[in-house]
Amino acid sequence: MTATEPTVDETIAIRNPANGTQVGSIPVHGPSVVAEKAARLRTAQQEWEAIGPVERGRWLRQWQDWAFDNVDHLTDVLISEAGKSRRDAGVEIVATATMPTYWADNAATFLKASHPKAHSPLYQNKRFTTWYRPHQLVGVISPWNFPFALPCMDGIPALAAGAAVLLKPSEVTPLSGLEIVRGWNEIGAPPVLDVVTGYGATGAAVIDNVDYLQFTGSTGTGRRVAVACAERLIPFGLELGGKDPAIVLADADLERAANGVLWGGLFNSGQVCVSVERVFVEAPVYDEFVAKLTEKARSVSQGAAGDIGAMATDTQRDIVARHVGEATAAGARVLTGGEPTGVGTYFAPTVLADVDPTMTCMTEETFGPTIPVIKVADEHEAIRLANQSEYGLSASVWTGDVARGERIATRLEVGAVNVNDAMTNIFCPNVPMAGWKESGLGHRAGGDAGLLKYCRPQAITAPRTPTMKSELLWYPATDRKTGMLLKAMRLVNAQGWKRKFGR
Ligand code: NAD
Repeated sequence: MTATEPTVDETIAIRNPANGTQVGSIPVHGPSVVAEKAARLRTAQQEWEAIGPVERGRWLRQWQDWAFDNVDHLTDVLISEAGKSRRDAGVEIVATATMPTYWADNAATFLKASHPKAHSPLYQNKRFTTWYRPHQLVGVISPWNFPFALPCMDGIPALAAGAAVLLKPSEVTPLSGLEIVRGWNEIGAPPVLDVVTGYGATGAAVIDNVDYLQFTGSTGTGRRVAVACAERLIPFGLELGGKDPAIVLADADLERAANGVLWGGLFNSGQVCVSVERVFVEAPVYDEFVAKLTEKARSVSQGAAGDIGAMATDTQRDIVARHVGEATAAGARVLTGGEPTGVGTYFAPTVLADVDPTMTCMTEETFGPTIPVIKVADEHEAIRLANQSEYGLSASVWTGDVARGERIATRLEVGAVNVNDAMTNIFCPNVPMAGWKESGLGHRAGGDAGLLKYCRPQAITAPRTPTMKSELLWYPATDRKTGMLLKAMRLVNAQGWKRKFGR
C-alpha cells in the first residue's frame, strides 16, 4: 500500500502503526533533488570503482561493525516505524548485519577476469578475456516490510561490485533507510551511498536517474517499474509478491512441521514475501497436524515485547480481515484468531481450516498472520495445488525423507524450496532468492551471480602471436579467400564428414 500521494512537495509524518504515535517526518524529494544526489553519487563512484574490491570490502566490514555496535538503536528505529516486535526487529537487524562480510570476502573472486577457451581452433591465436565493470549508479527501491534488511540485501552487493547506490525506502517506513546511510557516513566511507525519500513519484525519479534498478515491492508496482525501466532501456531486477506453499507429508516429524509452519506463517506478523501462506497436508496426518498448529498458534503472543508485532498499515490489516471474512463466508472455519486485536493494527494469529483453493486467502497475497490449511490425498495433489498460483517465490516441504523432499522440490514452480525448514534461503546470500512467474524477474544474492548482476561484462580479444598485414575476411575480399575460410570453419566445427566437407 502507499499512502495518499500529495499534489505539492511536503513532508510525510511517520507513525508507529502499533499505537499511532508520530515518530518522525521526512521530506518528499522531487525530481531535482533526486537528480542532484544521483550526479554527486556518479562523481564519487569513479574513485570507488578504482579502489578495487579489497579496499571496498574494508568499508563494508566497517559498516558491518557499525551495524553490530548499533543493534539496539537500529532495532528501536525499526520498531518505531514498522510496529514490529522487538524479537522480529532484532532478527532483521542482526541477520542483515551478518551479510556484508560475505560480499567483502568474495567480491574479488567473483569479479576476477576469466580467460575462456576458444570455441574453435581457428581462434587459437587469440587471448580472450571476460571482465566486469559495475553499473555506475544502482537504484534500490524497497517496500515497508523489511525496511532495514531489503535496502542492505540489495545495496551491499552493488557497493561491493563498485557501483554507487541510491536508496528509495518505502514512504511508510523510511527511517531505517536513513539510518543505513547515516552509518555509512559516520564511518567516513566514500560518499557512494545516499537515500531519497517520498512516494512513488520519488521512486519514478530514481528510475529516471540510475543505470540499474533493483525493485522490491508489490507485483502491481513491479509491472509499472518494469515498463519505466524498459522505456529507458536500463536493466532491472524485480522481487515481488508471493503466496508460498508448505507441503506437509505423512512421514514428516509433525512437531517440527507444526513449529516450522507456524514460524514461517507468523514471523513479522506474516508480512514476509516468503511467508507460508498456503498449507497442504496429507490426509492421514491432517487432523493431528492442524490440532498441533492451532494449539501452538494460540500461544503466540503479540506486542512489542511479544512474539509478533502489528501490521505495518491499516490497509494491510484490512486486507487480512477481508481474506479471513471471505473465507469464513465461503465455509472455512477459524480455529484460532480471525480478528483484529487491541489498539493499532494488530491482527490475531489465525489458523483457517476447511479452506478450498478458490478462496481469496489461497489465491491472493494476504501478507498477514493467517495460516490456511487444506487436506490433500497425496504428494501429487499437494504439488499440483502448490503450483496452482500466479506466484512462484518459494516453498517448503516437510518430510521424514530428505531425498524425497529434494525430489519434490524439483517439481515445484518456485525460485527456492526449503526442506524441513522455512525461509532459510533468504538468510543465505550464497544461494539465489528469485521469484518465478509473477513473483519477479532476476534474483537477489546467489553467490557470484548476485554481484555480477550489478556489472556489465566486457569481452576483450587480443592476439597471442604476431599478426599478419590482413585477414582472410578483410578487404579486398575474394571468393577464393572467403571460400577458404568458410571451408576451414566447416571442417573444424561441423559434425560428421558429410557436413565437414559440405556434401
Ligand atoms: P509497493 O509496491 O506499494 O511499494 C514498494 C516501493 O515502490 C515503495 O518504496 C514505493 O514508494 C515505490 N513505488 C511505488 N510506485 C512506484 C513507481 N511508480 N515507481 C517507482 N517506485 C514506486 O509495495 P509495498 O506495499 O511497500 O510492499 C509490499 C509488497 O512487497 C508485497 O507484495 C510483498 O510481497 C513485496 N515484497 C517482496 C519481496 C521479495 O523479495 N520478493 C520482499 C519483500 C516484500
